[in-house]
This record gives sequence, structure tokens and C-alpha cells, in this order.
Amino acid sequence: MTVAQAAGKSGALEKYEAVIGIEIHCQLKTVSKMFCGCSTDIDGAAPNSHCCPVCLGLPGVLPTINKAAVEFVIATGFAIEATVASTTRWDRKNYFYPDLPKGYQISQYQLPLAANGRLTFDTSDGPFTVRVNRAHLEEDTGRLIHQDLDGRRVSLIDFNRSGMPLMEIVTEPNIRTAEQARRYAEELRLLMRTIGASDAEMENGQMRVEANVSIRPIGREAFGTRVEVKNMNSMRAVERAIAFEIERQAVAIDAGESIHMETRGWDEGSQSTYHMRPKEEENDYRYFPEPDLPPLLTTPEWLAEIKARLPELPATRRTRYREAYGLSAYDAGVLVNDAAATALFEGALAAGAGVPAKLLANWVTGEYMRLAKGEGSGGSTDPAELAALVKLVAAGAISGTNAKEIFAEHFASGAKVAAIVESRGFRQISDAGALGAAIDTVLAANPAAVADYRAGTLAAIGFLVGQVMKATRGQANAAMVQTALRERLDKV
Ligand code: ADP
Ligand code: ZN
Ligand code: MG
Repeated sequence: MTVAQAAGKSGALEKYEAVIGIEIHCQLKTVSKMFCGCSTDIDGAAPNSHCCPVCLGLPGVLPTINKAAVEFVIATGFAIEATVASTTRWDRKNYFYPDLPKGYQISQYQLPLAANGRLTFDTSDGPFTVRVNRAHLEEDTGRLIHQDLDGRRVSLIDFNRSGMPLMEIVTEPNIRTAEQARRYAEELRLLMRTIGASDAEMENGQMRVEANVSIRPIGREAFGTRVEVKNMNSMRAVERAIAFEIERQAVAIDAGESIHMETRGWDEGSQSTYHMRPKEEENDYRYFPEPDLPPLLTTPEWLAEIKARLPELPATRRTRYREAYGLSAYDAGVLVNDAAATALFEGALAAGAGVPAKLLANWVTGEYMRLAKGEGSGGSTDPAELAALVKLVAAGAISGTNAKEIFAEHFASGAKVAAIVESRGFRQISDAGALGAAIDTVLAANPAAVADYRAGTLAAIGFLVGQVMKATRGQANAAMVQTALRERLDKV
């Protein structure tokens, strides 16, 4: 029986409430490392090619603080409405591991750069706010590589990652469901990308999500014992791992077992968590102030400057799209969640004066996102061309079906919309004779609409224009049709 089946059978999940706190490490997008001048461009670099005495932890070297990394954490602090410290300090977090030659990481313990923030986002149950305990700066460790070399099992160390700047963001344990946890991580990822602090790709470790999960009988105040779950490399895995862990704990407690502090890993293959190691107690790290770095003072002028540089944040943007353009909450969410889609939408609005925003948004979230997500798509969209296309659609100059074909061709080849319209024969019929014939047929077939119009229901003309467009497969010049129809109908 699987854990899920056991939980279902015993009704375990209905008796308990989950308590979840999330720790996220983000690799900051600086040019150089946290405390030395080594380049952070280590992707695909030869092992140990991006190191110096500082990030190798050799004796007698001194760290220098990377200002850009500090500014990213402060910017994040403002973005999550946190209190940004006027004085912060660096602390040594001591532990032994082969990927940590100094024997300690420089981190921030008692005085983090940002504290007491919050992040609000939509879930399937409505808006939810996660309270953020702190955001602080630290340095990354090196990386161990276990492999076979000349028939021997060896462990190799690559110090390229050593000293890379990391921001750790820790929430309060006020998350209650796996979905809330995933949505929080997604919103934070979007925020990181929006302010440019991190690319936050989970697959390559730029964003590492760890979940602390415990359960308690519904109605009980006191927290249960927490288990830490790591190694989730997608948002889906975050949600699945937490859901699995909640069920596992419920089944265990129902069976009379007790939960102990441990670190568990998520195994994608079996879709389950497994024991990795017992959890260290906090004081094992023997934190103490870093003697090689002075406390960091943040002046009000510096903070104000960082705050002023913040771009429009996702929450503000979603609200603006709803209020200014009449987008639904759902559409605004889809658009803002995707940086390329947002850029296309903004670009098309800027390039095409008078382009209807709501229709444009439909095109971006519909056709554009469908094609962009298509396998091996490699296509692209010129915002000005999309604006031109949407204006043609809005004017009734081309049919929806034709417009989709035009868009697909533009996306694949980059050809101009006008050129595609021309070459594919989607060009409007502006020939008076050809239009006249189509109009006569439509008028003969729709005597009721004609009578309505003549009786004063002028809006009936819209219906008739639509019929002519349909009869010409969207190719009639809508403005000409309108004029010609009026001429005929107003003639008594
Ligand atoms: P550590 O580094 O030891 O994991 P932190 O204080 O950095 O400790 O992180 C602890 C995380 O666990 C926080 O997100 C906190 O909200 C969460 N947490 C604390 N107690 C519980 C609990 N009983 N159940 C679930 N999460 C918890
Ligand atoms: Zn270095
Ligand atoms: Mg932890």
C-alpha cells in the first residue's frame, strides 16, 4: 500500500493540519563572487578555473564585500515590504565539509539585511499571504563530484561555486498547504527575475527550495516536530514532495510512530521522500561575528536610491492590467508570470497606437504563448507586427482564422504581417464591384435585419457587416462594406 492509499484509508489527512515553512536560496546575478573578484560566469567552465586564495579559503586572505549582492538583498527586502536593517553584521557559520575549505561560511545570523516581510499571491482558494522572517546574504560552498576514475570510486571537488553570492529567504511557518508553498516559491521566483536579482532557474541550482514540514491535530496550537525536505528541482516537485511528506507523517503518527528531526530528500523517480541525515541543531554551527569584516551600515540615502530603482513589481503590474485594461485576474496573472509575454504585451502597446489592449492580451496569452511553448519553437514575435495584426483583427479587416495563420507564419519566419497578408491572398477585397455583389447577396438573405435598420435600429448594420465579412472569408474591406451598406440601405 502506498503512503497516499494508507492516508486515504485511515482518514489520517482529515485529522491533521500541516505547518510549513520554506527556505529558499537564490544565486544572485552579480558579475563577481561575494567576497572576492572571481567571475561568477562558471557555467560549463573547467573545474577549479574560477577560484582565488579568498574563495579557496587559504590562510591570511581577507574578504571584501560585493556591493551589488548587498543591493539585491536590500531590493528584495523592499519588494517584500520587509524592514531593511540600518546596521547588519556578518557571522561565521562553522561546520566541516570537504566542499568548505575554510571550515565556515560567512553568513548573517542575528542581524540579517531584511526582516519581517510578506508576499501575497493568488491560490485556487483566493489570495494568500506568506510572512517572511528574514532575507540575508551568504556565500555558497564548492561542489563535490562523485564518479568512477580509472576503475576507482572517487570524490572530486570543484571550487568554482565556492564564494558565489547566495540570498537566503526564510518564511514564518504560516503556510498550510502544498499548493500555497508552490505558489509562494513561484511568486518569489517571479520577483527575483523582475528585480533582476537572480535568474532563479531551479534546474541548475540558481534557486533551491527547502521545505520544513510538520503536522498537528486540527485545533492544536503547538507545532509538531519538523522534517526538512530538499532536492526538489521543479515547482511541481515542491508541491508533490510536501504533499507526500504530509501524508507520510500522518500515516506514521496514526500508526503510533513519532516523527524525528531529519533532513529528507525528494526522489523524483519514486515520487517519495527518503531519509538523508539527522538534522543538526542550530548551536552546532557555533555562530560568531566575522572578525575580518566590519558591520555593514546602510545609509538612508543609499536605501532610498535602491528603492527608487525598483521596477514595477508583479503584484502592482497585475493590478494595473486589471484596472487600466480590463483584464481578468486570471489573464493578468498569466501575462505577468511570463517575462517574455509581459515584454511582448508592453512592447506591442507602445508600438501600436490605439491597439485594443484586451484583445492584444488575448493574443499574447493565447496564440503567442501556445506557439512559444511549442516543442522546439525557436520562433519569435515582433511587438510592432503583433500590434499591426491585432489592429487588423479589431478593424474586421481579416478573419480570426486568417489572423492565426498570419501570426504563425510571422512567428516562424519573422516575415512582416503586411507581406504575409499580401502573399497569402488575405488582402482585403476593396474592389467595389466584388464587394457590391457580396453585399447584394447578404441583403437579399437577411430581410429582417434590413427592416430593423430601416425602422431605426441602426445597430443592425453591424450584423450585416459581419455577414459580408463572413461571406468573403474575412477579406472584405470592412470600412468600405460599412459605407456601401449605408448607401444602399439609406436609399428608399
Ligand atoms: P534551519 O536552518 O535549522 O533549517 P531556519 O530557522 O533557517 O532553521 O529555518 C527553519 C524553517 O522551518 C523556517 O522556515 C520556519 O518557519 C520553519 N519551521 C519552524 N518550525 C516549524 C515546524 N514545527 N513545522 C514546520 N516548519 C517549521
Ligand atoms: Zn575568488
Ligand atoms: Mg533548514
